[in-house]
Amino acid sequence: MPEGHVLHRLARHLNAHYRDAPLDVSSPQGRFDASLVDATLLTRAEAFGKHLFIAFSSGHTIHIHLGLIGSLRFEPVDDVWGQIRLRMSNGYQAANLRGPQTCSYISPAEQAALIERLGEDPLRTDADPDRLWQRVHASRRSIGSLLMDQKLFAGVGNIYRAEPLFRLGLSPYVPGRDLTREEFDALWDDLVELMAYGLEHGRIDTVRAEHLPEAMGRDARDDDHGGEVYVYRRAGEPCHVCGAAISVAKMEGRNLFWCPSCQG
Ligand SMILES: [Zn+2]
Repeated sequence: MPEGHVLHRLARHLNAHYRDAPLDVSSPQGRFDASLVDATLLTRAEAFGKHLFIAFSSGHTIHIHLGLIGSLRFEPVDDVWGQIRLRMSNGYQAANLRGPQTCSYISPAEQAALIERLGEDPLRTDADPDRLWQRVHASRRSIGSLLMDQKLFAGVGNIYRAEPLFRLGLSPYVPGRDLTREEFDALWDDLVELMAYGLEHGRIDTVRAEHLPEAMGRDARDDDHGGEVYVYRRAGEPCHVCGAAISVAKMEGRNLFWCPSCQG
């Protein structure tokens, strides 16, 4: 599932390339009524956590959640393939949405209610880490579980759960209420830094300079996700810092990766 930086990156691209002129909006698959926004202007695309909201001059807003397998790709206008739920063409490029969990119109009230239920998004300037701290500090749940809760950490997914905990030497099993304010602040700051990098570069890199392949004389990571990471999907492989085998366990239904030595 895409993590939050992907949605913010999509919003940024839409705002940069799809706002100049009325769009040709359609649903080649036929499962979305595009007529309400066809030939209108895209006024603003905005991401909140893993949700994308696209507002049009007609007054309508489309709510998109990609879910596990959905994708929104920017492709040449004559490159039409697969089951496209929503297609927005600016004349030279088309934004093609395939396989989303959600693609529907949302009213201002519904949108406000949805956002109210979401937690703090490290990529948004209106995020309130103080409010998040109060909720984390009151919880008996482990921080590895809390990080996957979109009602707390909006936009954080499995990679951004695992990597900051490793970088800070924090066990994923520490209950939220046992974290110090300093540890929470360091975790929040690391999320902001890593996700901003992801937004900027379109990939997730979390390894510090001294642990890069060239610095360590090791092979680069070979993974279709790209990027250099410490623990994500490295179960059984040696930790880049201490050499211990990386552990894996299920937590909140997703594989959790950590170094049992560095994060004891
Ligand atoms: Zn280690």
